Amino acid sequence: MENLDGRICIVAGGAGFLGQHLIAALLNRRAHVVCVDNLSTGSMASVAKFSAAKGFQFCARDVAEPGFSNMFRHVDYVFNLASPASPVKYQADQIGTLNTNFLGARNLLDLATARNARFFQASTSEVYGNPAQHPQNESYYGNVNSMGIRACYDEGKRVAEALCFAYNRERHTDIRVARIFNTYGPGMLLDDGRAVSNFVTQALSGQDITIYGDGSQTRSFCYVDDLIKGILALTLNDTVGIGPVNLGNPEEITLTALAETICALTGTMSKIRYLELSEDDPMRRCPDISTAKAKLAWSPEVKLKDGLVKTIEHFRQVLDQPEAVSS
Ligand code: NAD
Ligand code: UDP
Repeated sequence: MENLDGRICIVAGGAGFLGQHLIAALLNRRAHVVCVDNLSTGSMASVAKFSAAKGFQFCARDVAEPGFSNMFRHVDYVFNLASPASPVKYQADQIGTLNTNFLGARNLLDLATARNARFFQASTSEVYGNPAQHPQNESYYGNVNSMGIRACYDEGKRVAEALCFAYNRERHTDIRVARIFNTYGPGMLLDDGRAVSNFVTQALSGQDITIYGDGSQTRSFCYVDDLIKGILALTLNDTVGIGPVNLGNPEEITLTALAETICALTGTMSKIRYLELSEDDPMRRCPDISTAKAKLAWSPEVKLKDGLVKTIEHFRQVLDQPEAVSS
C-alpha cells in the first residue's frame, strides 16, 4: 500500500457516496484529509466516522464560491468529486450543477496550480451521452444533447474535463482525469435516487421496484472498493499519464436483470413496476477498460452479486436502525 504519510489531500465532495470511501482509503495511508463539501447531496453523517481520526478536517464550503487559493497554504493532492451524481438530484438543481462543475472545477484547479498539487477530476461516462459506439473507449467523443435534462451534468462534466486539459496545457497543472462508470455500494443514501439504491431499498421495504422504460437499457455496475483502487492507482502514480481513463466494471446488465437479481438476493415479495423512460436516458453503457488495464494494471475484482450482497446488508442496517449507521 502506498504510504501518504502527512501528505495533504483536499477531497471536494468528500461527504458524498464515493468521497467517504476515498477519504477512508487516504486516511488508511496516513494522509491528512480536508473534506470540502456543501452537503447538498452528501451528509455530515457520512464523514462523522472520521471525526476522531488523526488528520481529518471538515470544511463546509461551496466549491463554486471563490477564495479557495487563500485557504490552504500547503496542498499535495486535490480530488474533485464535488457534483451531484444522481440524475434525480442534478435535474432538481440544473444551474447549480453547471456552476459546481464549471466554477467549482476552476476554483479547485486554481488551488492545485497555485500549490503545485496534483489534481484528480471525477469525470463520468456521461461525457459519452447516449453512446452510438459500444463499448465506449476514451477516444469516443460522445453523443450528448446540450439542451436536454441531463445536459447540466453531461455538459458540466465535459467543460470540467476541458478545463483540466486547458490548465494542463497552459499552466502545466498536474492533472488526472478518470471517467467513472456507474458505481454502487454501502454508503449510498436512502434517497439517492439511483438504480441500485432505489431497487435495494424498494426490495427491502416491500415496495414496487420502479423500472423506467422497458428495462432493456443496460448499465455496467462497479463496486465502490474496486473504483477507489482505480482512482488511487491513477492519482498516486507519477508515470501513468493524465488520462482520460475509463474506470468501471465491463460486466453489462439490463435494468430488468439487475432488478431481478436484487429481488432474488433480498428474497422480497416486491413486484416490478414499469414506468415512463426519462428523456435522453442512455440505452447502452459499458466501459472499454483496456487503457486502465494497460496503464494502471487495474481491473475490477468484485462480482456484481457479491457487491450487491454487501450493499443490501448496508441498506438493511440503515432501514433497521437509521440512527446507528453513518450514512
Ligand atoms: P454524491 O452526490 O453522493 O456526492 C457528491 C458530493 O459533492 C456530495 O457530498 C455533495 O454535497 C458535494 N457537492 C456537490 N456540489 C458541491 C459544491 N458546489 N460544493 C461542495 N460540495 C459539493 O455523488 P457520488 O456518487 O459520490 O459522486 C462523486 C463524484 O463522482 C461526482 O463528481 C460524480 O459526478 C462522479 N461520478 C460518480 C459516479 C457514480 O456512479 N457514483 C459515476 C460517475 C461519476
Ligand atoms: N432506473 C430505473 N429505476 C430507478 C432508477 C433508475 O429504472 O428507480 C434506470 C434509469 O432510468 C437508468 C438506469 O436505471 O436507465 C441507471 O440509472 P441511474 O440513475 O442509476 O444512473 P445513470 O446511469 O442514469 O446516471
